[in-house]
Amino acid sequence: MIQQAEKKGLYINGSWVQQEEQEFFKSINPATEEVVGYCAAATTSQVDDAVESARLAFKKWKNTTLPERAQFLWKAAKAFEEKKEFLAQMMTKEMGKVVAESLGEVGVVIETCKYMAGEGRRLFGETVGAGAENRHIMMVREPVGVVACITPWNFPVSLAGYKILAALISGNTVVWKPASEVALSAQIFTDIFHEIGLPKGVLNLITGSGSKVGAKLAEHNDVKVISFTGSTEVGIKLSETAAKTLKRVALELGGKNAVIVLKDADLKLAAEAIVKAAFTTTGQRCTAASRVIVESEVKDELLNRVVSLTQQLKAGNGLESGIDIGPLTNKQQLETVEKYVALAVEQGAVIECGGKRLASERGYFFEPTILSNVKNEAVVAQEEIFGPVLAFIEVNSFEEAIDVNNDTIYGLSTSLFTNSLYYANRGAKEIESGLVYINNGTSNAELGVAFGGTKQSGNGHREVSHHAFEVMTEWKSIYTTY
Ligand code: NAP
Ligand code: MG
Repeated sequence: MIQQAEKKGLYINGSWVQQEEQEFFKSINPATEEVVGYCAAATTSQVDDAVESARLAFKKWKNTTLPERAQFLWKAAKAFEEKKEFLAQMMTKEMGKVVAESLGEVGVVIETCKYMAGEGRRLFGETVGAGAENRHIMMVREPVGVVACITPWNFPVSLAGYKILAALISGNTVVWKPASEVALSAQIFTDIFHEIGLPKGVLNLITGSGSKVGAKLAEHNDVKVISFTGSTEVGIKLSETAAKTLKRVALELGGKNAVIVLKDADLKLAAEAIVKAAFTTTGQRCTAASRVIVESEVKDELLNRVVSLTQQLKAGNGLESGIDIGPLTNKQQLETVEKYVALAVEQGAVIECGGKRLASERGYFFEPTILSNVKNEAVVAQEEIFGPVLAFIEVNSFEEAIDVNNDTIYGLSTSLFTNSLYYANRGAKEIESGLVYINNGTSNAELGVAFGGTKQSGNGHREVSHHAFEVMTEWKSIYTTY
């Protein structure tokens, strides 16, 4: 039984707080169904407190020098290094991914701290030739104010890092609302900034349901930016709410990512990349491959290779060694995946492997599943499943492959496997995705490279790179006559 004292509450204005009758919700381990811990469900007045704390802190923080802000990020990088193992274990306990992946993710946060610390020095302005004598014009980037970061559970800390660190280095203050499934990991992340002495109010953490706490942030007059990663459905809702107060909104949303394999491709290379892209993080990545669009001539060989590699994957508790694939993050996800597979079969798909829950006493495990004979019109080929399900769609030409790839509401990530320079270049041009990979999987994000999707995978903003400053800063044009 967890004692009240171990329940951390909310992080507002530099300390962990809770009110007398604070309600708490459980964080559940999806591999064991055990309670990992309890997190505070913020009330709307506590959301107000967090925003007010960030609003007041902004007045000072925006005037700190860039090297000073960067120092906090360098210190955070070191502190994340020291807490790497502890944080990674918590992430795996809360959302199920194998611990090697969690460790890798903390590594990404460490690198993002360093990257953003450096990028701070490059928040360049512009000068423009004036149209009058004795006039000098310069344009400078200024921070916007309180940034609300709302994040999903599939990457508990790296997605938050991309947003929070970009906001902080450019002089904004932050209220963070992480997904409830990973609220304890968010506490560890936040505690690191407490320990390194980040000034109070600069980063605030509030936990609780999205529909209550997240929605309140979107309505709040003093929140100037919403940086959101999550489902397209919630992204649209947030945009609608935010429009009423003219907030800036940056959205990273869902995907229906495909790997296109042409008949001249290296099929061994393609198969390995497909299995990794489809089943890492149990398919719960916005960039996970959920469709293989393959030319008929090589379909059988590619399918055999992919099925054989998939059957070697070992599912289980991500904290144990030798495990390749963890559970789905919650029961609802498991049920959703199950429904999609049943529907796929109803619509003519053939299960090549997997297709059912794993025979285990506990945990939300689903076998990695490959479906063949999937038609482009089938629901399973159109909707984001967010689970370990991969659909094979056969096509008869490069042109048909591109048409099928582009025929979804999403446009996040597409891979193309070919040895033809001609088709590689045409693919790069004709694929409607924010991320295009030639001869590697759909799920790669390198720091410094703009990350995000077209169509309903986002609203045109990019992050993971300096492009995040486009939403985190505002231009001021200064005319001086001398
Ligand atoms: P989600 O249901 O949209 O939730 C994301 C976050 O929004 C959570 O913190 C959630 O809080 C909060 N939220 C829910 N309803 C809200 C509302 N009405 N107002 C304000 N906030 C609200 O997504 P998820 O299930 O956590 O994550 C999976 C989705 O994220 C997938 O669609 C995936 O493709 C997408 N994703 C996209 C990217 C990308 O970079 N493009 C990366 C990763 C994931 P609670 O859950 O605590 O209620
Ligand atoms: Mg959980």
